[in-house]
Order: sequence, then structure tokens, then C-alpha cells
Amino acid sequence: MAANDAVATENRRFLDGQAVVALNVMGSPGAGKTSLIENTIRWLNNRRCVAVIEGDIATNYDAERIARTGVPVIQIATGGECHLDAAMIKQALADLDLPRGGILLIENVGNLVCPAEYDLGEHFRVVVASVPEGDDKIEKYPAIYRRADAVVVNKADLAEMSDFRFDRFRMQIQNINSYASLFELSCKTGEGLSAWADWIAQLRCRN
Ligand code: MG
Ligand code: ZN
Repeated sequence: MAANDAVATENRRFLDGQAVVALNVMGSPGAGKTSLIENTIRWLNNRRCVAVIEGDIATNYDAERIARTGVPVIQIATGGECHLDAAMIKQALADLDLPRGGILLIENVGNLVCPAEYDLGEHFRVVVASVPEGDDKIEKYPAIYRRADAVVVNKADLAEMSDFRFDRFRMQIQNINSYASLFELSCKTGEGLSAWADWIAQLRCRN
């Protein structure tokens, strides 16, 4: 882990040098991480330039989706590893066309456990939850939520068909990490995406 942290520090220095703000986007498979990235690019509407690193165990399906938006993207297929690590990001950064002063969105492998432990060199951590997963995930996977800068609840349009209690979720976030910004949105209907994109648009590197 010390070796990973050293490479993560190198990555962060490299990104700082380009004034690129990096976000580590984590969440369960199917929470809508890729949809959120597609919609972030759309709703930013050129206020900030974006580049994307996609992490999956296998396939480059998500990079193909992102490529259709026209932004630079690189797929990391981990070949079995259930999380990204700093060395994988270092390699991707060497090949990626980074927009100076822009935003780098890193989609981690779908997993609520070990991605929380690996610093990639990002500036901000985002956890994407979704209504169909249920409102108890903060209690079940506290580590990933404790260190989040922002928590997104996607698929808010499905709330009426589910038992998801937003008040419970909000209270749990407040208890475990009152610092995190909370966004309730739907990549399907567009509700809440404007506030999310405004939050992204104002981010700057922090040291
Ligand atoms: Mg994905
Ligand atoms: Zn893992």
C-alpha cells in the first residue's frame, strides 16, 4: 500500500502540473457510473474540458460509450483485479490527451470494497449509489462513504417504485461523513444533473 501511495502522489503532482482536477468515481456495478460520466460531459456543456479513464475487469464497452461524446478516453481492463491502482493510472496518464485546466473523470471498477483503499492520485472521491440498490449501503460499506467528497444517488426517478427512503440515506451520510456533498439525480430524466454539473464545473486542484 505504501508503494501504491507513492505512485498516487506522483500522479497527483503530474495532474497538478497540468492544472487537471481528477475525480475517482466509485460505486457498485450497475449504479450508473458510466451514465453519470456521459451526462456530466453533456451538462458541463464545454464549461470545462473533460478526459476519461474507464476501469473494468474486462471489455472496452464503457470507453466506446464515452468515445461517442468526443472526449479523450482510455480503457483500463484490469484482467481480474477488482479495483484500479495508482500504477494503472500512471500508465494511462502517459497515453491520455489531457486537457490543461480540465477535468479527469476516472471510473473505477464496480465494487464498494477495495477501491476505497487505493489512492489513485485523484483530488476528489465520488461514490455513485442508486435507488434500486437500497438505502442501507452506507451502513454496510462505511469505508467508501467515509472518505467521499461527493455522494450521488442515481435513478431517483425509480423512487416511487422502491422502498428507498431518501431521508434515511441523508441521515446516514450526515452521521458518517457530514462533509460530503449529496446529489440526488436521475441520468434518465435529467433531474438534479444541473446542480451536479455546477459542482463539477467549479472544482479546482487542491493541495
Ligand atoms: Mg461502467
Ligand atoms: Zn479489489
